[in-house]
Order: sequence, then C-alpha cells, then structure tokens
Amino acid sequence: MSFSSEVKKELIVITPKARHCQTAELSAMTGFLGKKDKKIDGEKIYIASDNTDISRKFFTLSKKTISISENGMEHPEEQQECCRKSYLRGAFLVAGSMSDPNKSYHFEIVCHELPQAKRVCDVMRTFDTDPHIVERKGHYVVYLKEGSQIATILGVMGAPKAYMELENIRILKDMRNSVNRQVNCEAANIHKTVSAAVRQAEDIACIENHGGLTQLPENLREAALLRLEYPDLSLEELGKRATPPIGKSGINHRLRRIGQIAERIRNQEDKS
Ligand SMILES: [Zn+2]
Repeated sequence: MSFSSEVKKELIVITPKARHCQTAELSAMTGFLGKKDKKIDGEKIYIASDNTDISRKFFTLSKKTISISENGMEHPEEQQECCRKSYLRGAFLVAGSMSDPNKSYHFEIVCHELPQAKRVCDVMRTFDTDPHIVERKGHYVVYLKEGSQIATILGVMGAPKAYMELENIRILKDMRNSVNRQVNCEAANIHKTVSAAVRQAEDIACIENHGGLTQLPENLREAALLRLEYPDLSLEELGKRATPPIGKSGINHRLRRIGQIAERIRNQEDKS
C-alpha cells in the first residue's frame, strides 16, 4: 500500500465527535468532490464517488448532521481549531495525496478553483505551515515540500501512525546526512594532511640535495629527520616524538621554516 493510502486508511475511520467538526469535514468533502462524483439539484446533493470508503464516510457524516450546504463553510480558516482540522481531513481524503517520504517530501491537495486553494492555504497556515499553490491542468494544487511541515499536517488531520512513520524516516535521513558530511570532512582532512606531508618531504629532499641537512639549525634538522622517518604522522604525533616533545604549532612552525629555506633554494636555482 502506498504511503498516501496508509494515511487515508487512518483518516477514513475518524468520525469527529462534535457536530461542528462533522459539518466542517462533510462540507470539505462535498467541496472537493469532482463534478462526476456529485450532482447538485437545488437543495440536494447526490454523491456517487467511485471510492466506496469515501461514500461510506460521507453517508455516516450526513446521517449525523441534519443538513449541509456546499457553501456551509465559506471561511473555514475563521472556524475553531477542531473544525479546521476536520476540514483539512475531509479535503485530503477526497482530493489529497502525498509521496512516499522515503523517496521525497511532497504533500498536496488538488482544488477546483483558486479561491478554494487559497482557502486551503489559509487553513493550513493556521497550523504553522507554509503551503504554496501551483496551477496544473486547470486545477490549483496546494502543496508542501518540507518534511517537518508535512509531518505537522499529518498530525493535524489525525494520522498519528503516519506522523510517527514520517518522523522516523526524517530522523534516519538526517542521521545519514550528518554521517556523510562527517565522512566527507574526514576525507578532506586526510587529503590535506597527506598533501602537506608530501610537500614537506619535497622541501626536505630539496635541502638535502643542496648542501645537506647539516646546514640546518639543530631544531629544524630534528623536525626534518622526524618527517622523513614518519611520513604518515600528523603534526601532533610528530611533535610528540621530538626531544623534548613539542606541540602541534611548534612542529608546524619548524616545518614551515624548512619550507621557506627550500623555497629560497628553488628561487636561487631559477635565477641561476
Ligand atoms: Zn469543531
């Protein structure tokens, strides 16, 4: 079963207790049914949805509320919170869908007209979400693209199981991303360490080939010999092996001076 169907399975069995909420949900369902599913004949509305679950819920809600009119909720965003939740549930059941959050985050409700879409947006905004509208094949689609906002709306409509499932997926995705970031960062650091060590080895070789390491002051010669002996060690580890041991910045300073000496030798070579 698709994630969308799972959400609907959770929502279809909810019957709000209060009559105002029943009316809100029923009016949303009526408003969102397509032309082929409903026929308005004066005061009467005939419902003939292909979806038997929808028809059954419609019947249940109709029985509980004496009469509804399609425009019974002109401004649902001004209604009580409980009714706004019911309104969104009714709208989603009839005209909503969402993608599998394992693949992407997308939640939408397809509206017949722009005012209807704006109304849905207004209601959704009262629950701290930021929906957008896009026109598609003569319809107006209200959609959410952010995982946390979709989770919020699932909770609002009354689908705690789907809400938990989405939140778990979101946590896993976040964890995977942060692990990837960390791995990339470590790889970059290793690369930096290696390329610095290679450059240092080249500097030392350069000095050795031009007069030898004996020309270096004692502390620099020690650093050079340590680097040659331990080409893979980090600066910190290299510093620990000096006599007496020195810190990372100390060994770094010595290797930088070696680099400057090698640079001078190279410059002189270029001139001559
Ligand atoms: Zn209510």
